[in-house]
Amino acid sequence: MSAPPPSMRYPFRRTTLLIAATLIASLTTVSASATERASDVAPLKVDLPAERKAASDFLGAPIIKGTLDRRAWSAGQPLSGLALPTPVLIASGKEPGPTLCLTGAVHGDELNGVEIIRRIMFALDTENLTGTVIAVPIVNLYGFQRNSRYLPDRRDLNRYFPGNPAGSSAARIAHHFFQDVISHCNALIDIHTGSFHRTNLPQLRADLSNPAVSKLSQLFDNFVVLHSLGTVGTLRRAAVEAGIPTVTLEAGEPLYLQPEEVAQGVRGVLAALHGFGLMGKSSKVASEQKVFYESVWLRADQGGVLFSEVRVGDAVKEGDILGSVTDPITNRSSVVRASASGTIIGMALNQMVMPGFAAYHLGLAKAAGATLQQTAEGAANAALEPVRKAVEEVAKEAAQTASQSGDNPEAVSEAARRAAVEAVVNRELPSSARGEDKSEHELPTPEPDEHPE
Ligand SMILES: [Zn+2]
Repeated sequence: MSAPPPSMRYPFRRTTLLIAATLIASLTTVSASATERASDVAPLKVDLPAERKAASDFLGAPIIKGTLDRRAWSAGQPLSGLALPTPVLIASGKEPGPTLCLTGAVHGDELNGVEIIRRIMFALDTENLTGTVIAVPIVNLYGFQRNSRYLPDRRDLNRYFPGNPAGSSAARIAHHFFQDVISHCNALIDIHTGSFHRTNLPQLRADLSNPAVSKLSQLFDNFVVLHSLGTVGTLRRAAVEAGIPTVTLEAGEPLYLQPEEVAQGVRGVLAALHGFGLMGKSSKVASEQKVFYESVWLRADQGGVLFSEVRVGDAVKEGDILGSVTDPITNRSSVVRASASGTIIGMALNQMVMPGFAAYHLGLAKAAGATLQQTAEGAANAALEPVRKAVEEVAKEAAQTASQSGDNPEAVSEAARRAAVEAVVNRELPSSARGEDKSEHELPTPEPDEHPE
C-alpha cells in the first residue's frame, strides 16, 4: 500500500517525545525480596549454547512470576550520554515456559515496532501466560531521541551484533545488549520497517535453511516470508548463530506510525505467541504462507522524480511498468519495469531519486521453483556420488581380473566398461551406494544486495 495521507500521519516529534517520556518516567526497579525465581522454567525447546545464562537473574534481579515488570538496561559505558537507561518490559506468566523476546527500534527511526510491542505487552494476561515475554520497545534510544536510524556516531547498531566488549562504541553497546538481554531469549522477533523513505509489505525475514527458524516463521499467521540469511552483524543473524531462533518482522516505513501495518504486526506476533505455547494452544488452523526464496531490487536508471503505479503487495508480471522517473529539468522520462513476475514486497515512496536508486523490491514468483530445481539437482548429485564410486569399484575389479588373465589393454577396458554398465543396469551394487539418509536439504542462500533491516 502507498503512504497514508498526511492527515493519518502522526506528528513524529510529538509521538516520539510522548512515548519516550512515558517509558523513561515509568522505569522501576524490582524488589530484591522476590522469592520465586525463574530458573525453573521448562526445558528449552531448541538447542542452546551451553554458556547461556540462567533466566533467574535478569538485569540484576529475579523475574517474578505472574507480573508485568519494568526494568532498565544500559550499555554499561561510563561516558555520560552513552549510559542511557533503556526500558525493558517483562511479562512473566504464572506457569513456567519458554522466553520469547521482542525488540523494536534497533534503528531509532522505526516506530511501528514500538507501537506493536506496546499493544502486545499491555494485552498480555500474565495470569494465563505460560513462560515469559521480554520486550525492549526502543533498543536504540539514542537514535530514537534524535529521529535517527543510527547511533550518535552514525554507526548502524544492526551491523555490530553480537558485539565486542573491546570494540567501537557500537560494538560495545551491541555486546552488552546481546549478553544482558538477548542471551536470555529462547526465540526472538526483531521488529523493523523499511529504511530511507521506503516501505515494506508486512513480512518476515528468516533463514529458512535453519529448521528452528523455519518453524518459528510458520507460527505467524498468514505472513509473507522472505528467505534470507541476514547481513553479518544484524541482531537476527547473530542471534541465530548463537542458537536463538530469530526472525525479523518488517512492517511499513520509518518515521511514521501506520495503523494498518501496526495491526498486521500485532496479529502476527500474537499468532506466534500462541504458536510458541505462551498463550495456550491456538484453535485456529494456520493459514498458508507466501514464501519467497529469492528477491531482487529493481533500480531507477535515471535521476528525477519517482512516481509509482504499484503498491506493496501487488502481484506483477514480467515487463509490467512499476513506476516512472522524470527529470525535472529536461522533462526526460523513463519507466521502471518488472524484470520478472512476482510480488512487490517493498518499495520506495514517491521522491527524488538518483540513477541506480533501489526503487522496488520484488519477491520472485518463480524462485521457489528454481530453488526446488537446485535442491533436486543437489540431491541427485549427492545420491549419485556413492553410486559412481561403487560402479568404479566394480569396474576396477573387472579390469584387474581381465588384466591378470593376460588380456590386452583394449580387452581390459572393454571388461571394465561391461562390468560398469551391468552394475548400473542390474543394480548389483554394494549397500554403501545407497548413501546416508539426509532428511534435511539445505536451501541455497541467495543474498540480494539490499535488504536493510
Ligand atoms: Zn531497521
